[in-house]
Amino acid sequence: MAERASWSLGAALRGVFGAKTIDDDTWDDLESALIRADFGPAVTEEIVDTIKAQVERYRTTDPRDVQRMLREIVEERLAKYDSTLKLTERPAVVLVVGVNGVGKTTTIGKFARFLRTFNRSVLVGAADTFRAAAVDQLATWAERAGVGIVRPDREGQDPASVAFQTVQKAKQDGTEIVIIDTAGRLHTKGGLMDELGKIKRVVEKQAPISEVLLVLDATTGQNGLAQAEAFIQHGGVTGLVLTKLDGSAKGGFVLAVQEKTGLPIKLIGQGEKIGDLTGFTPHVFAQKLVG
Ligand code: GDP
Ligand code: GDP
Ligand code: MG
Repeated sequence: MAERASWSLGAALRGVFGAKTIDDDTWDDLESALIRADFGPAVTEEIVDTIKAQVERYRTTDPRDVQRMLREIVEERLAKYDSTLKLTERPAVVLVVGVNGVGKTTTIGKFARFLRTFNRSVLVGAADTFRAAAVDQLATWAERAGVGIVRPDREGQDPASVAFQTVQKAKQDGTEIVIIDTAGRLHTKGGLMDELGKIKRVVEKQAPISEVLLVLDATTGQNGLAQAEAFIQHGGVTGLVLTKLDGSAKGGFVLAVQEKTGLPIKLIGQGEKIGDLTGFTPHVFAQKLVG
């Protein structure tokens, strides 16, 4: 999050915050900027109404007060969810789920490296077993991150069996954190949710599952969320990972997605390189978003 992010409201609202006074244009421009940033109509209305009320109460005419109020409201709403990763079990098992192409495998590579920088030992499991290419992709990331991988013995091996073997190996070797990659679409007659359910049952024979992270592509915003509904309803999701924020103009989706799902954002991905993953800090995010 170095230079100005694509999802920053700064450019869209420079006219508003830099204006001489607060008038009807302020509210129109603020509303349309929030809608374009994918806050969604309900949240946008709430935020605009709250700021209007505060402006009246404090009798201010300075648009910079509007900017400060917006930043504070966004931060306060973002901070209602606990974004801390729960990784205290040994091993801590993390299941990574989500529809195809959202960035699961890439996130696992980045996350493995992220954990290595904190001196945690990590083992990844390639439980997206249907395509050999998916396994090879994870293997490439594991190598970059400097962590071990458990691959299927053969193409199409039962994903639950790979997950089982991964956790088993981690326990034998004393590895601290296990991250399991999963498939994003139906390969077989059985449903994807059945497959995930089976992975969970089989893993839990050996160790509790610490986190089930649902990966969402921020560029698809609220539409992508609809596709992920089944995971939220059946998957036991404990947290969200938002990827591709680097190419996204939908900064407001970050707030909307937590409030719609009731699930905390735990990681954000902002690029295709191994270092492009960070934890989620409401204060920092609100500052970057609003300026
Ligand atoms: P999966 O099918 O969910 O495992 O998705 P992949 O990990 O294979 O990623 C799909 C595509 O999204 C790849 O081309 C990745 O490089 C790209 N991708 C993943 N995360 C990010 C991100 O944070 N930013 C950008 N720009 N691209 C990403
Ligand atoms: P079932 O296949 O529906 O009878 O469910 P189970 O819970 O018995 O096992 C699910 C899958 O997990 C199996 O198909 C195995 O591939 C895998 N699995 C379960 N237990 C073990 C085990 O002790 N060792 C290994 N390698 N895999 C296991
Ligand atoms: Mg993948």
